[in-house]
Amino acid sequence: MLNLKNFIDYVEKQNPNEPEFLQAVTEVVEDLIPYINEHHPEYAYLKILERLVEPERVVSFRVAWLDDQNNIQVNRGYRVQMNSAIGPYKGGLRFSPTVNLSILKFLAFEQVFKNALTSLPIGGGKGGSNFDPKGKSDNEIMRFCQAFMTELYRHIGSETDVPAGDIGVGGREIGYLFGQYKRIQNNFTGVLTGKGVQWGGSYIRPEATGYGLLYFVQNIFEHNEDTLAGKVITVSGAGNVAFYAAEKAINFGAKVITLSNSTGTIYDKDGFTHEKLAHIAKLGRNLADYCVKFPSSTFHAGEKPWQFACDIALPCATQNELDESDATTLIQNGCICVAEGANMPSTAEAVKVFHNAKIAYAPGKAANAGGVAVSGLEMSQNSIGQQWSSSKVDDRLKLIMQNIYKTCLRYGKESDGYINYLKGANLGGFIKVAESMKAQGV
Ligand code: GLU
Repeated sequence: MLNLKNFIDYVEKQNPNEPEFLQAVTEVVEDLIPYINEHHPEYAYLKILERLVEPERVVSFRVAWLDDQNNIQVNRGYRVQMNSAIGPYKGGLRFSPTVNLSILKFLAFEQVFKNALTSLPIGGGKGGSNFDPKGKSDNEIMRFCQAFMTELYRHIGSETDVPAGDIGVGGREIGYLFGQYKRIQNNFTGVLTGKGVQWGGSYIRPEATGYGLLYFVQNIFEHNEDTLAGKVITVSGAGNVAFYAAEKAINFGAKVITLSNSTGTIYDKDGFTHEKLAHIAKLGRNLADYCVKFPSSTFHAGEKPWQFACDIALPCATQNELDESDATTLIQNGCICVAEGANMPSTAEAVKVFHNAKIAYAPGKAANAGGVAVSGLEMSQNSIGQQWSSSKVDDRLKLIMQNIYKTCLRYGKESDGYINYLKGANLGGFIKVAESMKAQGV
C-alpha cells in the first residue's frame, strides 16, 4: 500500500529545491494514492507513480546569441520530455526570466494529465528558457529563437516531440523557431504547433485556450441548469488566454470587469465590450492608459483583480497568482466558480478554500486544455496535409471540452453530490496514462 506522506517525502528527496514541481505532484497524488490503494493494490500499479514523477528525459543546453550591440548573451534552454505513454511529447515553450527546472517539470507533469484528458494521442512535455523577451528588439528575438532551435532541433520531431507556445512564446516566436528548424533539417513537418494559418497552422489555435476555458465553464453552469448571461467575471492576465476568454465570455452575455498584467489591474464597472478589448490590445503593457479613454474604469497599480466582487473568477496569468487570502476574499464577495486559464494559478491553500466553500473549482489541467487540444488537431491536419475550416475546428474544440467535462464529472463526483473537478481531472488523466504504461511494460 502507498502512504501519502512517505511518497511526498520520497519525491522531495529525489527533487530537492523544486517547490513548484513538488506542489504539482502533491496536488495529484493526494487524489491518486487513495484511488490506487483501493482499486489497484497490485505491485505494478503501486510502482507507476514512482515512474510518473521521473521525466523520461531532461535536456538542458546553452543558448548563446548576439544582442543588438553585438554583445554575446548566454541563456539556458531546456526540454523536459515527461511521458510518452500515449503519444509524442507535446507541450509549450516558455521564455521568461522565472523559468527554471522546477517550473518546467511542474508544467510538464501537469501537461501529461491535461493531454490525456483531451482524448487525443499526445504525451506530455514542456520546455523553454530563462531568456527575458521584455524590451528585446524583433531582431534580438529572432536571433535568440534561432540559437535556441539550433540545439533543440536534434531532440524534437513531428513523431517524437512537438513543442508549441506558452508565456513569452507566441506566433512570431513559433515562426522564427520553425524557420530555423526547416533550414537545418530541410524538412517541412508539423514539428511545432501554433504556426501561422498560411503555413501549416490551424484556425482557432490562438483563441483555443480562452475559448475552451469558457466552453468548460459553460458546461459547469449548464449542469446546474444556469447560464453565463449576466454573470460578472473577473479575469487576470492580458495575454492570449485572458483576451480570448474575455471575448468569449462577452459573446455568452457575461460582464467581464477586469484584466491585468504585472503593472496592475484595469477595473471597468460597466464591463468590457469588443471595442474596448480591441483598444486594450493596442496599449501593449501600458494598461493604465485605458482609464484615460474610459471614465467608467479605474486602474489599480500593482494590484490583482481578486478584490472585485464577481460570480466567476478566471485566473489567466501565471502560477500561484491567487493565494489563500485572495480565495477567501473571492468567497466572501459571493464568487461561485473559479476556472483556471493559466497553469496552477491557485496555490494549494487557495484550492482548499474553494473546496471547503464547495464552489465549482476547475483546475487548469482540465479547463485550459483547449489550447493543447487544438494543437493536437493541428498535428492531425499536418499529418494528412489538410486544413480544416475554423467552424470545424471550433466544433471539435467544443466537443473535446464537453468530453473533458464529462470525464471530470464521472471521476470527481463526491458522495454528498459535490463535484471535485480537480479529483476528476487527476483520476481521468491518470487512468489512461497508467493503463498505457502498464501495457507497454517497464
Ligand atoms: N502551453 C499550452 C499549455 O499549457 C499549450 C501547449 C501546446 O499547445 O502544446 O497547454
